[in-house]
Amino acid sequence: MPSVTDFTSESQMRALADARGWNDGLALADAHAVTFESVTPERVTAVVNAPDGPARVELTAGDRFGYTCSCWEVPEACRHIVATAMALPRYAGGDV
Ligand SMILES: [Zn+2]
Repeated sequence: MPSVTDFTSESQMRALADARGWNDGLALADAHAVTFESVTPERVTAVVNAPDGPARVELTAGDRFGYTCSCWEVPEACRHIVATAMALPRYAGGDV
């Protein structure tokens, strides 16, 4: 059974996001802008409190990696999705 973290390594997220989304997402993660609501191996939901407003992110694991964000800014993984993915190991480690 795949879990969300199987899909959210740095190299995988870099491949999913464009360069700007990656950089902005990393900055949001570093700024502790991500508030996790629910974290299970198969599904993660979070709210990302970006400077221009909050966005709701859902990451799911199944046959493939699923990701949605309420901002719908870009077809790629947006900065909110990158931020959630990059903050996830810290959540798992208890350091959020
Ligand atoms: Zn977004």
